Amino acid sequence: MTTTTTSTPFREGLFREGPDGPTLLGGRCSNCGRVTFPVPDMCLDCRGEDIETVELGGEAELLSATTVHMPNRHFPPGHAVGLVVLPQGLRIFSQLRPVDDKPFRSGMPMTLEIAPLWREDDTDVLAYRFVPA
Ligand SMILES: [Zn+2]
Repeated sequence: MTTTTTSTPFREGLFREGPDGPTLLGGRCSNCGRVTFPVPDMCLDCRGEDIETVELGGEAELLSATTVHMPNRHFPPGHAVGLVVLPQGLRIFSQLRPVDDKPFRSGMPMTLEIAPLWREDDTDVLAYRFVPA
């Protein structure tokens, strides 16, 4: 059996592996300073178009979590999703990965993980999710 694994991010420019671990990528408006995720084409506050890509890091705090019981194209029933807040104050909707079946609780520290979350055409599709730190 031959196993060839290729991988691709589900969307370019959302995250990368940095020297200190994985990081989400956001956009900072050079005119007003607003930081958003993902990187926008235009600032949502001042409509400025000079947007600098910045690393948002991989740490967050869990705001809320729930279990999705409806299957979808990529995830079986019973997968967890939630809302995390980054140190910059950005709220991000994300897949969540529980550890040791411990329940999620609001306020728990979370860390970013880049992982192959599904496959398409024999290619692992890399996406981000948060796990308890
Ligand atoms: Zn702006």
